[in-house]
Amino acid sequence: MTFSAVIVAAGSGTRAGPGQAKQWRSLGGKPVLRWSVESFLAAGAAEIVVVTTEEGALVLQGALAGLRGWKFARGGATRALSVQAGLAALSDRPSDEPVLVHDAARPFLMRKTIDNLLSALVGKDGAIPALPVADTLKCVAPGAAMTTTSREHLWRAQTPQVFGRATLASAYEAWSGQAEPTDDAQVVEAAGGCVNIAPGDPLLMKLTYPEDFAMAERLAGSARITRIGQGFDAHRWGPGGSVWLCGVEIAHNETLVGHSDADAGLHALTDALLGAIGEGDIGDHFPPTDPQWKGAASDKFLIHAADLVRAKGGAIINVDVTLICERPKIKPHRAAMRNRLAEILSLPLDRVSVKATTTEQMGFTGRGEGLAAQAVVAVETPA
Ligand code: MG
Repeated sequence: MTFSAVIVAAGSGTRAGPGQAKQWRSLGGKPVLRWSVESFLAAGAAEIVVVTTEEGALVLQGALAGLRGWKFARGGATRALSVQAGLAALSDRPSDEPVLVHDAARPFLMRKTIDNLLSALVGKDGAIPALPVADTLKCVAPGAAMTTTSREHLWRAQTPQVFGRATLASAYEAWSGQAEPTDDAQVVEAAGGCVNIAPGDPLLMKLTYPEDFAMAERLAGSARITRIGQGFDAHRWGPGGSVWLCGVEIAHNETLVGHSDADAGLHALTDALLGAIGEGDIGDHFPPTDPQWKGAASDKFLIHAADLVRAKGGAIINVDVTLICERPKIKPHRAAMRNRLAEILSLPLDRVSVKATTTEQMGFTGRGEGLAAQAVVAVETPA
């Protein structure tokens, strides 16, 4: 089902303590806001609008660097106005398309929550993730004795909350002038809408107080998984004066023969990245029968695979390439190759390795018939 998302990140979050607003703080090595954007991208959101302040807009590009499929909208003085600004900023999308409205302060958004919400919306005006109240509730009013309140029928509402886009927009119009609602479902309820409940997720905790960050930091590790990918490629030697390996051209008395520039190092690495995210192989994405890839520089293939990783909300942890040949000597070019790979992948140099070995003159690489390359990568993606 197609859906779009509005993420509200305009608050100053004073309860979370001094310093940067909580949506920009680092959690598990990246800004709090980025967690939600990556989750929506991984779930296939058609469009994501991030609503923030003018000052927020200045750090937004950096916080979401490398991610596509989102845009900025300027927030209003209240959350309600910010949500409406986000709805207005959505492109000309179908009026009944589901829109998920989310608070940036809830970073651990799992795919199953999004799926559950979209299912719960069917035939209703809205759906929210909610958890039953497990603790005993006490009422402590000034000057009165403590009393115990029944928790029966009580739920804790989380975000994202999903509605038909037009339903939510018109409910907000009808709400205009009333006190600030504490969530979007309240506005739809007031307009007579029927809002359904979907299973909430304890991981969807809202970062409110300073101590929440300590717990979230511990959870951050468990909300992501590490995937390993492996790639192999080989090309035959033929007549020529230079060879491309790991994005670097090396003078040599032969060249590798192939449809593209035959850079076996980049091909193996591209396949490893595709393998890590289950996206087939290089031939699926760039068919050798397609004339547009004839003689192509292979960094295009690697950039494409890295973009696919990022589109899934993933990040490359490290890459390790092994070139297998008797000649040319790789060592004098290793630093240049590492630098080039780090540049293509936007990775620090210590996360990029290029190694070389011979096969002691055995096999096709040993006899000088061809060159082979192996690559292993680690990629981190939403669980
Ligand atoms: Mg190849």
